[in-house]
Amino acid sequence: MVEKFYWADEIADQIIKKNPNKKQYVCASGITPSGTVHIGNFREVITTELVVRALKDKKKKARFIYSWDDYDRFRKIPEWLSKDYEKYIGMPVSEIPSPFDKNKSYARYFEEKFENSLSEVGIKADFVQQNIMNKKCKYSKLIKIGLDKRKEIMNILNKYRKEPLAKDWVPIVIYCEKCKKDFTKIISIKNYEIEYECVCGHKDKFDYRKKGLVSVKWRVDWPMRWKYEGVNFEPGGIDHSVQGGSFTTAKEISKQIFDWPAPVYVFYDWIKLKGGKEFASSTGNDITPKQVGEVYEPEVLRYLFVSQKPKTGFQISFDNDVIKIYEDYDALEKKYCEKKVNPREKRIYELSQVDKPKKKIVKKTSFRHLITLIQTNKKIPLNDKIRAEKVKNWLEKYAREDMKFEVQTKINVKLEKKEKLALLKLKNILKAGEHSEEELFNMFYEICKDVGISNTQFFQAVYRVIINKEKGPRLANLILTIGKDKIIKLLEQMK
Ligand SMILES: [Zn+2]
Repeated sequence: MVEKFYWADEIADQIIKKNPNKKQYVCASGITPSGTVHIGNFREVITTELVVRALKDKKKKARFIYSWDDYDRFRKIPEWLSKDYEKYIGMPVSEIPSPFDKNKSYARYFEEKFENSLSEVGIKADFVQQNIMNKKCKYSKLIKIGLDKRKEIMNILNKYRKEPLAKDWVPIVIYCEKCKKDFTKIISIKNYEIEYECVCGHKDKFDYRKKGLVSVKWRVDWPMRWKYEGVNFEPGGIDHSVQGGSFTTAKEISKQIFDWPAPVYVFYDWIKLKGGKEFASSTGNDITPKQVGEVYEPEVLRYLFVSQKPKTGFQISFDNDVIKIYEDYDALEKKYCEKKVNPREKRIYELSQVDKPKKKIVKKTSFRHLITLIQTNKKIPLNDKIRAEKVKNWLEKYAREDMKFEVQTKINVKLEKKEKLALLKLKNILKAGEHSEEELFNMFYEICKDVGISNTQFFQAVYRVIINKEKGPRLANLILTIGKDKIIKLLEQMK
């Protein structure tokens, strides 16, 4: 059965129905930049962006807020990082230096890289650095509400906990003004005044409307910001989405404490690299959107995500599947331009675009054919410059050996009598005139029949002579791409 609708359009309908009179809808997402922001995080971003686009396509105003949760503490040293960073544990990730760029903070370095890769695939968001928001005391009024209703919050959280929270639990942590770490203890809270002491010996009182030393704990911070930003939609990873997980409690806290209805929510599943490696942002060897973009054109990269529902886990392939994915995308584009798409396919194509969808087909060479063109040193059509770069990167970094070849100028292999006979026939056919790929392909089988050689043996013999391998790209296409004159010259060396 053909699916009629696209999930992001359905979500947009839900958002509008829930808030019929809102002038501008707010869709949000965000993460803690505790290391390289990887392609798994990209799923969250694009899930949000697709809903923003769906709202805009319904002629609604929509804003995309992307929060960098960079006032979160530096928890542990990632494997790839020097142990010298031990001294920064407990400080906000926005306050420690980047190991890669001394002019940037640890957080900002990773944030900028990710922001740049988003703009390449047409994603625009209002990036909000939470360290700045917190330092400017933007949330002080809501923090007051959270502190005043501390007991109610504890009741909500305790419903889902095995061990109840300690009696003196508060939804905030204080960063010490002197050592910048959060190894602090709150002594008293009176109205907007907090007294604290730190393991470093520092002890002080401050007004949290004037000094941004407060960090709100995640389970309260999330709903608090829904209220502050007026969030109507936010996706969450499968880890936040389990019963009693942070979405469950955020939903209750949002409504009961901050008087804001929880946003429309979808959860998304993880993605994997073909080969089964799961992403986790705490390891250094993650694949970034930039690395995926070395192999996938922006539209095809979007297509990978757009064509899946968020709750479906899927793999990003770097092996031969890349060829098939490009073919699928090209076929969809052709169908779209010929107006043969169903409503769901139409949306998938439109939402895969970085800019406005094309009205006419721009003739593009297939990824598969470019593999041959590049390795036979042929001129690349102007329209295919970008795609050709991707093919080159793919050949260099990911392609299996059997996809790589070098055209031979001398015959370097031994041939059996029958093989020689078949190759002679091939040479004569090429000499006799021009052939289309299909005609040539059919002639291969006639040669085999005439000579009494198996198809496999014939194909292998030709590949061995031309590229010194037993397998290769589609043979007729390969011969025509290299140029029949070159092939004839090669075959004439046969004795
Ligand atoms: Zn301290």
